[in-house]
Amino acid sequence: MTIQAQYLELLREVQATAGVAVILVTHDFGIVAAIADRVAVMYAGRIVEMGSTLQVFDNPSHPYTRALLRCLPDVGLKREQLVEIGGQPPDLAQLPQGCPFAPRCPERQPICDEAYPPTVPVASGHVASCWAVPGAKAPA
Ligand code: SF4
Repeated sequence: MTIQAQYLELLREVQATAGVAVILVTHDFGIVAAIADRVAVMYAGRIVEMGSTLQVFDNPSHPYTRALLRCLPDVGLKREQLVEIGGQPPDLAQLPQGCPFAPRCPERQPICDEAYPPTVPVASGHVASCWAVPGAKAPA
């Protein structure tokens, strides 16, 4: 943890000194919360939700983002087991025509298996690709 904190501090310094953007790829939401201004959540090789760190943590709008956040250990809660996301990730060589998260999604609808969901705005600067997000419209 000490090395990680030093590394993140160094990244911040380099970013500020060089005036560059840094793209960090991680599964660690603690790091995201500590260092990121914006977050892009990816599933099966595509961005499924993107927004400011505050927007995504405060109002996760894609079921996969919500599932990821539920998996975080919470030292204040006395859970017997960590929550996990059931099922398996899809075969990237054989992606379905619909939403690749559908077999694992508790909010799955018939349209989810028929077409990949559009990317719709949730708020200014915050988007999600999901048929369950208000505003997502089925193809005519
Ligand atoms: S598009 Fe459907 S299956 Fe995919 S995440 Fe949204 S609700 Fe779930």
